[in-house]
Amino acid sequence: MAASGKDQVKIILVMGKSGSGKQPRIDCLAEEFGFKQISTGNLFRECIGTFNSIGFEGSLNETWDEEKKDFKDDAVIVELLKQKSKTPDVLAKPETNMQTVLLGCKAKYFVESGLFVPDTLTHGIFANAFESYFAAPLESCGSARRGLILDGFPRTIGQAEFLLELLSKHSLKVDFILEVDLDDETIVKRTTGRRICPGCQSVFHLMFKPPRDGQFCTKCGAVVKQRADDATEDLLRRRLNEFATKVAPCLAFLKEKGIPVVTVPGNLPDPSPAAVKESVMGSVSKLWQ
Ligand SMILES: [Zn+2]
Repeated sequence: MAASGKDQVKIILVMGKSGSGKQPRIDCLAEEFGFKQISTGNLFRECIGTFNSIGFEGSLNETWDEEKKDFKDDAVIVELLKQKSKTPDVLAKPETNMQTVLLGCKAKYFVESGLFVPDTLTHGIFANAFESYFAAPLESCGSARRGLILDGFPRTIGQAEFLLELLSKHSLKVDFILEVDLDDETIVKRTTGRRICPGCQSVFHLMFKPPRDGQFCTKCGAVVKQRADDATEDLLRRRLNEFATKVAPCLAFLKEKGIPVVTVPGNLPDPSPAAVKESVMGSVSKLWQ
């Protein structure tokens, strides 16, 4: 057993196919442990948002060195951003994290060009968020306990190796993995009803966790939307395939390292938060029996 007791837990990974029902289980763990959730998808959106806030008016291609097949040096990119920022005062503010701006710039380059995001960039974006969280004073964590629930990272064996190394540098380890299990066909049926709040990122489902009056976020009142990348079945099939070829071997790799894996079903006859909690915590608590 990796964890000697519930109180020692600091790092939880949640793994499962896209659309398997991870979020309600993450919500349950976040409440039980008082931990912050880090999702790579949101980290990418946040970094790109920070980059967008500086109003860069140049071309992202200017950040790329075609000969090196890599980005130009960070110092060169920072200089370029300063020269071509519409709002240089935002850049100069002490609370603007230059590392986040740079990562957002690089993430946007890949997202806009439709190119595959290399692991090195995902590592950088994850490490930046991880280290700011563990470096911040405990009062700013919004909880009496400091700990993380990771979602969407790691997705490859390379990312898993990076994570284990980063954690060991901080004398941390993955305490357990919650694997959310659901078959592909059920996922395809379920996903078409998924909606997300553009304001607070809350996730809803037209059938299972309906927004208020079928369209408003129950937390902040914004009109919920179908996330653009949920829209097509074709894309979902590709993601399910990616899970089988990359994430499943990554999970097997972590299991081999001796990290406990708790597997729970992604669908329950009763999808209420109470039933989810019983399913998740009933299985998780066996780790300490
Ligand atoms: Zn909301």
